Amino acid sequence: MTDRALHPDTLLVHGGTLRSQFGETSEALFLTQGYVYDSAEQAEARFTGDDPGYQYSRFSNPTVTMFEERMCLLEGAEAARATATGMAAVTAAMLCQVKAGDHVVAAKALFGSCRYIVENLLPRFGVESTLVDGADLDQWKAAMRPNTVACLIESPTNPTLELVDIAAVAEIAHAAGARLVVDNVFATPMFQKPMQLGADVVVYSATKHIDGQGRCLGGVVLCSEEFLNDHLQTYIRQTGPSMSPFNAWVLLKGLETLGLRVERQSASAAIIADALAAHPAIAKVLYPGRADHPQADLVKRQMTSGSTLVAFEVKGGKAAAFAVSNALKLIRISNNLGDAKSLITHPATTTHQRLTEEARAELGIGPGLLRLSVGLEHPDDLVADLTAALDAASGARAAAE
Ligand SMILES: *Cc1c(COP(=O)(O)O)cnc(C)c1O
Repeated sequence: MTDRALHPDTLLVHGGTLRSQFGETSEALFLTQGYVYDSAEQAEARFTGDDPGYQYSRFSNPTVTMFEERMCLLEGAEAARATATGMAAVTAAMLCQVKAGDHVVAAKALFGSCRYIVENLLPRFGVESTLVDGADLDQWKAAMRPNTVACLIESPTNPTLELVDIAAVAEIAHAAGARLVVDNVFATPMFQKPMQLGADVVVYSATKHIDGQGRCLGGVVLCSEEFLNDHLQTYIRQTGPSMSPFNAWVLLKGLETLGLRVERQSASAAIIADALAAHPAIAKVLYPGRADHPQADLVKRQMTSGSTLVAFEVKGGKAAAFAVSNALKLIRISNNLGDAKSLITHPATTTHQRLTEEARAELGIGPGLLRLSVGLEHPDDLVADLTAALDAASGARAAAE
């Protein structure tokens, strides 16, 4: 492209583009399972690796390559492999590097299915795991063992938007000879660069902000060439969690507008967080972009913007949280996030329903907590919708008392 380092917004539009002989403007969709060879010798060379072309779309596909290459440029990573879902990415990133007898450490505050991988799945295959309070560095240090090979965190966490100090945990992990895997979904690739903070592997659910328009599932693992060659490449080729070319094409188009979308969404989230904090029906607002966030200093150190999500606790517990959700007219009830449409969920009864009451309390997931994923609507319309719902719900509560 050019010699000068390009800005992320430019990479989002041009990065990784592979033009075919037809010179198409938009990325081509190579909806093919396989590839034909000019000769038996060429087929042989593809399989020995002497000829770098394509062999089979479970291994690689040109549309998927474009997506992987664009993600590498954006993240500043050497290598990437795209997967069918975000969970396929997390599972691949963990399973590809462990064997029976190994140990992994993870923060307790993890996306539900990520916690299942660490807490339930890995131990079934002889990989022990320890869960720690992600914000407590002493617990991280105490959890490390000679056989610890990997640590897994997300920051900000779902749903309470707490942070984990990525640089500090990376240092502890590396001192113990372990790698740090960061699930960077909530920060998005625009607002936080875990590899610059010391992470070895970064994973995304591309289903969220990267698609950003609620259409298809996808995931990606970003890592070094060495990690790709020693661990990830073979795992993906042989077990097949690969991304479909169609989804890669949709996600490439999603990436073109990622920067614009998440900037707008986090600017709106900041406005909404302030409006919620001023409302009498609200007990607490959790937003990394606000000065009253418990880890505001760390937010400044490792993120360049707040988040597109806002968590808040309404007074009156579950009944009030349900009343507010049901009174919303524009914001829809859904457990998804990162969409163009604003979505609200009650974590205690949906995404975190399977946890015990104590486990939820430990994570700060109370009965009045709601998680809002801010979309692309005008922020004034969203504030008006929330304010009207809070007024209606607290008015009804006052009348009942
Ligand atoms: C959604 C999500 C995942 C899982 O992604 P899928 O695409 O739904 O499989 C993992 N981690 C986080 C933080 C998520 O938000």
